[in-house]
Amino acid sequence: MAGPRRTCIACRTQAAAGGLLRIAWPAGADGPVVGGTPGGRGAWVHPTDDCLAALRVERLSRALRRTVTADAFALLLDGLRRAAADT
Ligand SMILES: [Zn+2]
Repeated sequence: MAGPRRTCIACRTQAAAGGLLRIAWPAGADGPVVGGTPGGRGAWVHPTDDCLAALRVERLSRALRRTVTADAFALLLDGLRRAAADT
């Protein structure tokens, strides 16, 4: 029961934050990245093929309150898939 719980922005179910990949948009970056520095606005997603496939740029933009471009989203997905493979 320890630790914060977060909602996966793909499947909308809650999980322990440690079991999700964090997405953040660091100050000065061109787009969102996997991980990022603590604090600030973040989004979370399960490190699973299903949730990464279900992730939508519109929902991510809403979660981060910034417009994510298609190119930035493609780069982020690559990073998420790599991070998921390491999990
Ligand atoms: Zn999920």
